[in-house]
Amino acid sequence: MDADMETVCGIAGGVKEKKFKAAEIIEIYLKNITKQETKINAFISTRAVKALDEAKMIDEKIAKGERVGRLAGVPVGVKDNICTEGIKTTCASKMLENYISPYDATVIEKLKKEGAIIIGKTNMDEFAMGSSTENSAFKTTSNPWNLSRVPGGSSGGSAAAVASDFVPLSLGSDTGGSIRQPAAFCGIVGLKPTYGSISRFGLVAFASSLDQIGPMTKNVKDCVLSLEVLQGNDSRDATSSKRKFTAKYLLDSHDANKMKVAIPKQFFGDELDAEVKNSIMGSVERLQDMGVKVDEVSMPIDEEILSAYYIISSAEASSNLARFDGIRYGYRTSEYNNVEELMINSRTEAFGEEVKRRILLGTYVLSAGYYDAFYNKAHKMREAIKRRYHDIFSKYDLILSPVTPTVAFEKGEKIHSPMQMYLQDLYTVSVNLAGLPALSMNCGFDKNNLPIGLQIIGSHYSEEKMFQLAYLLESKLDLKKKVIL
Ligand code: GLN
Repeated sequence: MDADMETVCGIAGGVKEKKFKAAEIIEIYLKNITKQETKINAFISTRAVKALDEAKMIDEKIAKGERVGRLAGVPVGVKDNICTEGIKTTCASKMLENYISPYDATVIEKLKKEGAIIIGKTNMDEFAMGSSTENSAFKTTSNPWNLSRVPGGSSGGSAAAVASDFVPLSLGSDTGGSIRQPAAFCGIVGLKPTYGSISRFGLVAFASSLDQIGPMTKNVKDCVLSLEVLQGNDSRDATSSKRKFTAKYLLDSHDANKMKVAIPKQFFGDELDAEVKNSIMGSVERLQDMGVKVDEVSMPIDEEILSAYYIISSAEASSNLARFDGIRYGYRTSEYNNVEELMINSRTEAFGEEVKRRILLGTYVLSAGYYDAFYNKAHKMREAIKRRYHDIFSKYDLILSPVTPTVAFEKGEKIHSPMQMYLQDLYTVSVNLAGLPALSMNCGFDKNNLPIGLQIIGSHYSEEKMFQLAYLLESKLDLKKKVIL
């Protein structure tokens, strides 16, 4: 594949300048999928014929000299919890196995308006609950770097699809790390933007105060362009913000090396794998060599933060998932004698184990006798986390940390131990609790050739700075390794 065909910016530019046709691009990517998808299982559904028709329409427009959008001809994978008109949106759950949304999520409208072409809907942990994509009711996705390993989760299908050259861009959602962790495991770039910067209208809610949609791409520049397209105020999402980020002069600015970066020592504790730590520290040294000022700071993260996250997210999930009762929404059992049995049996039959665990936990922490002891306490913790970050950002531009304690783990390794799985989220959940933006990018490989991720955390709406540093680092590290399938 020509280098320009591999990236979002390359494709959009090449199609517009008539270097190649949109239909040619779609054919190439569909061919990759046909060849390798049985190994990877990145998609829950694909739409080859329609995607090709849409590409041909873009080529016709270009031939007639008409305007095409900023993502003309770019193939996109969409996590299956984002509503797409006329295409199934299953949330990888038996509950929504046959659900076809009658409308597009705002992000889908925006992508279509700019000429992007949806290739398919990607696999995920059921209702976005998990860190390995093993909680899908339909299939298990493989990590393209090593097929016996997980791709991370919950946006594992989206990450694997980008890393396998099935699409150059995919959408994920991040409630506690679900964009950043799979991006790290698959060696790509994943952005969880500032809470409120991308509309959540049409995203099937998991925990509304934490959920954010974000782009997953192969490089930083593609991520910048994608955020520019996806962001923006939306009257259909009450938490959507009017603030926007602009990428003007961003990528040729040389100011990145004047930045002050904080390294929180607690993010580098005993649970962090030595190879991951060394790789991140190697990147830190590269930045220091370029003149970036780096200081160690204190930012307590411990299992209490994880508890706060799991209490708040499960409380919100138990409320958000109440609508799936077999009457208003979702799967309906055939075994019932009365309305109560209808609801109980529908939910029992259609929700998976992890989803049930979260609903039970959420209902428990919200119940009258335990509300103060758990839910209120978790909210106090959330405020404390916001203050800790605020203090750091009053002195520093950005924070640098690991994304996950280890590289991609083996399939089956943690699925029977929820606590082990939850520990994956140690370095990512505090960002969602504070509503901050964070980017995950590849910074190296371990001895088994598995990608290692690095996290850049910014203050609210500091995406521009994050991109600047990420871009600088990406150009210095110059990691050229590719997945060989
Ligand atoms: N792994 C976390 C969880 O299971 C994060 C999920 C997410 O970000 N959607 O809750």
